[in-house]
Formats: sequence, C-alpha cells, structure tokens
Amino acid sequence: ARKYVVKNYFQGAPKKTDYEVVEEELPTLKDGEVLTKAEWISVDPYLRAYNPQQKVPYDQYSIQVAVIIESKNADYPVGSKVISQKGWVDYSIVNPKTEQKFYKLPNLDGLSPSLGVGAVGMTGVTAYYGFLDLCKPKEGETVVVTGAAGAVGSLVGQIAKIKGCRAIGFAGSDDKVKWLEQELGFDKAFNYKTINVAKALKEAAPNGVDCYFDNVGGEISSVIMRQMNLYGRVSVCGSISAYNEYPKQPKATILQPIIVAKQLKVEGFLVWRWENWSTAFTDLVKWIKSGELKAEEHVTEGFDNIFDAFIGMLAGENKGKAVVKV
Ligand code: NDP
Repeated sequence: ARKYVVKNYFQGAPKKTDYEVVEEELPTLKDGEVLTKAEWISVDPYLRAYNPQQKVPYDQYSIQVAVIIESKNADYPVGSKVISQKGWVDYSIVNPKTEQKFYKLPNLDGLSPSLGVGAVGMTGVTAYYGFLDLCKPKEGETVVVTGAAGAVGSLVGQIAKIKGCRAIGFAGSDDKVKWLEQELGFDKAFNYKTINVAKALKEAAPNGVDCYFDNVGGEISSVIMRQMNLYGRVSVCGSISAYNEYPKQPKATILQPIIVAKQLKVEGFLVWRWENWSTAFTDLVKWIKSGELKAEEHVTEGFDNIFDAFIGMLAGENKGKAVVKV
C-alpha cells in the first residue's frame, strides 16, 4: 500500500516536500477485518488547519470512498462501498467495529459514489445542519455566504434558496461569481478580491443581513457582521483566510459591540456534533435528483496528484467539492 506521510509543520502554504509517499506491506486479514481500496479521496481545508496540532510525522488523515476487495466480516462483503477516514492511502485494513467514523456509503439513488465525500457526506452535512440548525433561516430572509463557490458554501447558498431566502455569496474570481449567479441561482455574488465588500453588500442587501454562514473568518466577516439585522444569526463554520498563517494568530477586530447591539447569535460548530446524518442525506439526495441542488465537483485524477489537488483547493482553483479520483 502507498500512503502520504506529513513530515513537517507547514510554513505558509503546504509544500510537496512536506510530504513523503511511503510504501508498506499490509498484513493478512484477521477475523472481523476488511481490505479496502480507495476510489475517491477528499482534500479539505481542515488538513491544513489541524496541522499545528499534530505530532509530525503523521499519516495524512482525510476521508475516502473505498470499495471492499477482501473481507472477513459478513456485514461488509466484497464489492460493498464504504466511507473511511484512512486518508491519503490506496489500500488499508480496517476493522469496521472499532474504526471511528467508518460507515457504509449511503444510498445515493444512482448518483456518483464520489458524493460520499462531498454533497452526501461530511461536506453536505456541514452545509445542511450547520446552516439550517444554527441559522434557522425563515422564508424571505437575507443569507450571506463566504467561500460561496466552494464545497460547503455552494451548497449553503442553494439550500438558502430552497428555503425561500435571498442568497448573497462572496467568492474569489469573476468566473465563480458568474457561476453562482447563473448556474446556482444565487441572487447576487461578488468577487471579494476586486470589490469594496461593505459597499457591495449595502447595495445588495439594503435591508440588512439576517443569516451569515462564515467559511472564511477575517476582515470580510467583520464587515458582513456589521451589516446584520437585530437578532441575526451567524454560523461560524471555518476561517480559511487564516489557515495558511498558522501557527501565527492574526490580529482580530473587536466585534463584541455589534454582537451586543444587534443581539446576534454567533455559534461555531463541528459537523461531528450531529450524530445522525440520515435526514440530511435523504434531503440532499432528493434535492440533487430533482435538480434543485447542483453538487458540483472539481475532480483531479490520480493518487500521485493528491497533493496538487489539495494545494489547488487551498488556492481557490475549485468550484464545488475538490476530490481526487484514484
Ligand atoms: P472549499 O471547497 O470552500 O475550498 C476552499 C476555498 O476557500 C477555496 O476554493 C477558496 O475560494 C477559499 N479561500 C482560500 N483562501 C482564502 C482566503 N484567504 N480568503 C477567503 N477565501 C479563501 O472548502 P470546504 O467547502 O471544504 O470548506 C469551507 C470551510 O468550511 C473551511 O473554512 C473549512 O475549514 C470549513 N469546514 C468546517 C467544518 C466544520 O465542521 N465546522 C466541516 C467542513 C468544512 P475563493 O476562490 O473563493 O477564495
């Protein structure tokens, strides 16, 4: 088997030399175990974000869709597909009973299995519960999403539309802006790199913002929160604008006065807090099948190209979910 090992703490953007691809011989299967072969491997911002908390060297954790090619476990026969946390590795041995967050690929009703690491996986659940449970959007409200063209953000904006809200997105290129408005049905989108965010938002949401789904943190989030309405809700999902700065802590704007004055509810979350993902999966599959939700993927081919897919995603090359076809 081949696996990616992280050798160093990242300085700025991760570098290829921070990784080593290591070959290892896998032992024979014991009772209860299965041998999995990765088919789709996920690259996600948290692989960068959590690096300072790891002890190097470590195996690059991540999520994959895998197929079982040998089995000593009757519940997981050969040919069945699973979601595994084994990361950037081609073959692995798993004991499903003791392995954390290992589960059978949900029923995708004929959709691509790759969605198991995307819109019908951790990413989709993050958008679904992170937005619906924390923001509790009401019909007619104005929802702002940053990282809007990414895996989570593109779903959040579309779910906002499904729930009858106005969706405004911020993303990092004109091409992404066009895609959000013309293909995904966002009411308005902006390239945060080229516009004045405060001014653009004032024009796009003259009556203020009710819900803010925050994927990026940093200054843009402070600007958006200053335009929130009384009792607005902020779902804090991530802060990718700072990940490549880690372990340095960026200077923060003091937002307490606006949180107090507008009586905002600001809540962070980790997707694993929701133990049962089945309601989200059912709705997400239904919406994708009906065409209400577009589950865009940015596919890179080949196990050898996982690093490039990862760094490309951090640099904003992706529309929708960045995923590697092994
Ligand atoms: P994305 O598909 O959104 O990919 C990352 C995107 O971030 C890039 O495409 C890029 O788009 C944008 N980006 C990169 N650098 C910056 C920057 N400096 N400022 C603003 N945007 C930047 O990834 P995900 O959808 O997987 O993740 C989105 C967020 O959700 C992340 O913060 C992640 O950590 C978080 N997350 C949190 C979870 C939780 O449980 N709380 C679970 C899953 C994800 P652009 O061109 O627009 O700049």
